[in-house]
Amino acid sequence: MKPAARFLLAAGITLLALAGAGYWRWRVAWRVPGPDSRVSIPVFVLHRVLPGEATEYIISPDRLKKLVRELNRRGFTPVSLGQLHAALHDRGPLPRKPAMITFDDAYLDMYVHALPVLRKHGWPAVFFAPTGKMSDPPAERVVWGDGPDPRAMQWPELIALKEAGMEIGSHAWTHINLAKALPETVNAELETSRREIAERIGVAPMALAYPGGRHSREVRRAAAEAGYRLGFLSGGGPIPLGVEDLYALPRVHVPGYADPAAIVSALPENVWR
Ligand SMILES: [Zn+2]
Repeated sequence: MKPAARFLLAAGITLLALAGAGYWRWRVAWRVPGPDSRVSIPVFVLHRVLPGEATEYIISPDRLKKLVRELNRRGFTPVSLGQLHAALHDRGPLPRKPAMITFDDAYLDMYVHALPVLRKHGWPAVFFAPTGKMSDPPAERVVWGDGPDPRAMQWPELIALKEAGMEIGSHAWTHINLAKALPETVNAELETSRREIAERIGVAPMALAYPGGRHSREVRRAAAEAGYRLGFLSGGGPIPLGVEDLYALPRVHVPGYADPAAIVSALPENVWR
């Protein structure tokens, strides 16, 4: 190769490398959205993860894999509960396309089928546990709710999730309808669950997901008084930045039979200014 050609080749490679690095920085940079930005954060909510027939609340491990791969392919970045709270409460920085994956109910199938997928594809998730359903071996697992094989996780599995980089939130204590419960029952549900998670996991949970998404003004106030800083509903779409009530945060329900690519592509495009 002539020296001139060699020079051109080297210059070309350098330019490509610089452009690639620039694109990568732009893609992963965290920043504070300006006042004219339109940014929303999808917090996906999933329930059972089981191979076999998909339903509204059962997603197959394969389809969960498609969801996380789609999020990666489209440049979404996972955010933690702390980062979400900082963004919503204190205008903290966010990645260009923030997202969060959450699971309600803490069934054993999530540990068996969701954890390997999340680890492999680099997606930490939040598991909201109804702590009254969590037992300790050698006691039998609690079996509750309906659907196939409804065995609850036990505490060692929740601890293993935490050690694998996942976050544990509260799904109250016994999974009752908080909106219909007496005030003292609501307080006991929220305080017991929070204390149990703090004692077992070593971190007091920052967030609560209302069982069945059912809440009221009194329940939201009780959540704040019990020390939670975020309260999640069961649906309603992505969280718009600037949302008023941090105790009524919507989530994106993922039906088990839906096409993950369609769900992700239906999300509003963030506008950064
Ligand atoms: Zn639930």
